[in-house]
Amino acid sequence: MTAQGLKCRECGAEYALEALYVCERCFGPLEVAYRQDRRLSVAERRRRIQSGPQNIWRYSDFLPLAGGPPGPSSRRTSRAGLPAGCTPLVRADRLAAELGLGEVWVKNDTANPTHSFKDRVVSVAAARARELGFEALACASTGNLANSVAAHGAALGMDAYVFIPADLEEQKVLATGVYGGKVVAVRGNYDDVNRLCTELSAEREDWAFVNINLRPYYAEGSKTIAFEVAEQLGWRIPDRVVVPIASGSQFTKIAKGFEEWRRVGLLEGELPRMNGAQAEGCSPVATAFAAGHDVCRPVKPDTIAKSLAIGNPADGPYALELARRTEGGIDAVSDDEIRAGIALLARTTGIFTETAGGVTTATLAKLAARGDIGPEETVVLVITGDGLKTLDAVRGSFSTYEIDASVEDFTANVQGAHPIGATR
Ligand SMILES: [Zn+2]
Repeated sequence: MTAQGLKCRECGAEYALEALYVCERCFGPLEVAYRQDRRLSVAERRRRIQSGPQNIWRYSDFLPLAGGPPGPSSRRTSRAGLPAGCTPLVRADRLAAELGLGEVWVKNDTANPTHSFKDRVVSVAAARARELGFEALACASTGNLANSVAAHGAALGMDAYVFIPADLEEQKVLATGVYGGKVVAVRGNYDDVNRLCTELSAEREDWAFVNINLRPYYAEGSKTIAFEVAEQLGWRIPDRVVVPIASGSQFTKIAKGFEEWRRVGLLEGELPRMNGAQAEGCSPVATAFAAGHDVCRPVKPDTIAKSLAIGNPADGPYALELARRTEGGIDAVSDDEIRAGIALLARTTGIFTETAGGVTTATLAKLAARGDIGPEETVVLVITGDGLKTLDAVRGSFSTYEIDASVEDFTANVQGAHPIGATR
């Protein structure tokens, strides 16, 4: 496939592959449209992927960049920098057993360079920004994107301007500033930050705001999660995918990835049931889903899942349509359920996720408890970010044993410890 242009998702108007994101005719969002190359057989397509690098650029045939698959050519230097993707897909039998499910897999996107899935979308946006001649990267972020944009700026030698809500978790601020870009803490919530950045992007035409004027390219990066899952499952579409929803972009693009591979013959079968996960303290999409509405009513976020705290989700209507079309759903979980979700994933898989992953895991548990998931289903849980980013969420959730450095004190005071030779 070759990127052909940008296309309005509402009226279908077409535009060149420039730094545009909104339709001049109807103000609808723009998306990358591809032309199909029918010359390639399925075997040839697979060979091109499998001979690519161990990162998202192995899927270059399906990404909106010039120059074809990666290689030594100078045109491809835009793809240098910080390689993302090829994160593990981990079979989670202990999690499945605890929830009474059959086959559960965790897509562990904490294994990206800055420990969240945002490295995928930023890699694609930054590469396209370089192709278009931009020298500065910028973003409006709830935290993970800030980390990734600052790191990609450093890796590519581009200036980075990162805008965040002033109340963001300290770990995410520190893990952004360390890369040397400019971190701007805005007094307000994410929606305020986003509004400011939208105004700034009109003023600063030489800045590539990865999630505003570069948004159509940025969003395409999320398809690589679907590509990897399918490849890691042996060129197979799972029955169900559980994904957190903030703007709703990742949720819809994962389905787009499976759909594109189905269209070119790389995959067969139905799209997975798509289940979205939100926090009750910011659940405009789950609320609209439950009410049967086609659009979301904006909310003011109040949840520990700050990386999902987008009160006015840009892709909300598309997420609703997708969940209904695939007979999935969109659920919301409480802050206590989120903390329990983090703990459940950690103690059954060894994977420590941030609050967004707690939302996703808690939603999987809710679906399982409700009996929505069949025993024969292959379920993929998309874990988007690392627990070290939101340590406050687990503070106080367990106690450590403090003892003197003596065997007696250990034996006397550590619960469950038994002297050598003793029977339990
Ligand atoms: Zn339009």
